[in-house]
Amino acid sequence: MKANPVLGDGGYLIELERRGYVESGSRREKVGTGRGSGQFTPEVAIEQPEALRQLHSEFLLAGAKVLQALTFFGTREKLNRAGYGAQTESINAAAVKIAREVAGDNALVAGSVSRTQLTEREGMSSLDKSRDHIAEQIRLLKDAGVDFLILETFFHLAEMKVALECAAASGLPAVATMSFRPLIKACTDGHTPAECAKVMADCGAIAVGANCEQGPNLMLKLLREMRAASPVPIAAQPAAFKTTDEVQCFTRLPQFPDSLETIQLSREEFIQFGKSARAEGIGYIGGCCGCNAAYIRSISDGLAG
Ligand SMILES: [Zn+2]
Repeated sequence: MKANPVLGDGGYLIELERRGYVESGSRREKVGTGRGSGQFTPEVAIEQPEALRQLHSEFLLAGAKVLQALTFFGTREKLNRAGYGAQTESINAAAVKIAREVAGDNALVAGSVSRTQLTEREGMSSLDKSRDHIAEQIRLLKDAGVDFLILETFFHLAEMKVALECAAASGLPAVATMSFRPLIKACTDGHTPAECAKVMADCGAIAVGANCEQGPNLMLKLLREMRAASPVPIAAQPAAFKTTDEVQCFTRLPQFPDSLETIQLSREEFIQFGKSARAEGIGYIGGCCGCNAAYIRSISDGLAG
């Protein structure tokens, strides 16, 4: 018998950016499309804690059973580049505290850990530096009392393996999701979704899957490949943006980051995703960029239907 999928949350940074609390880095730093995605860091946890508390409450009301602390891009490496390196401890601690206060006894709290961006900037020789930064952040999250980790938005399987090794050393369970771009056929260091799933499960992930970059329908194709290769449950956190056949990821489209409204997906695709999730063998579903509480409620409605 297949268990009901666990409903998560997601879409914190882009939603908070739209509300005016997070900087996109547009026109500030040249990566990705060249128009910048250099910031999207979580200092809102210490600078505008009420805005973060409010968004957590909305996801909880929508039915989320897991609240992700807003610690995405919270390694000292990434925060340094955004000008917040000295606040690494306080940002991670504050984010977990706020999520925990909202979650109460009604939801688990996950620490979100993502890539350092060192691999795409400096190459594979930077993996040891990545390891130090990711290990440090996981220590901070464990000290702050998260229930488990969500390792997400890794482009290189090699850096994900490093993160999973750090998670294993910490003793915290970890969900692991890769992001695929520009196409869903392979991650940035050339591994297919099936290979990624197998390696992440072998490295101890309690669930494996994909997040960000694609909407539910396109992501489902790569999740099926992962499912066929994975001994552990599948996790999915799709984005709410339309992509094209040539560019199957929204962060490489010219609409990123300043015209995302023009490629927003409707909630209907998320209702359908919720409806088919159990049959598709998905164990954990949340949202990613472009999602807000309305999208999480749509998944919840789909799961209930
Ligand atoms: Zn995302």
